[in-house]
Amino acid sequence: MYLFIVTLILSILGVVAYYLYIKQKGEKLSKIEKGICPECEKESITVKRSKSGGCSGTTNVIYRCENCGYEEEFNVGASGCGSGKCGI
Ligand SMILES: [Zn+2]
Repeated sequence: MYLFIVTLILSILGVVAYYLYIKQKGEKLSKIEKGICPECEKESITVKRSKSGGCSGTTNVIYRCENCGYEEEFNVGASGCGSGKCGI
């Protein structure tokens, strides 16, 4: 019984952490798409590398800030996905 409760709590924490991660990632991406760095708030975002994810319909993009050196990878949904975002 104790093990069950621990497992249950851990899985809930996992889901919450995952949700917060996706939410934070989405907020960052919406800023970056406007060209604003989420770290230093400067309009110095450039695309470092962009490659298509093949038939998955997503594009793998690495954004970089010229001002503070911030760099992050995002999977941006391509036009073929209707909603514009493919799951994660
Ligand atoms: Zn920056």
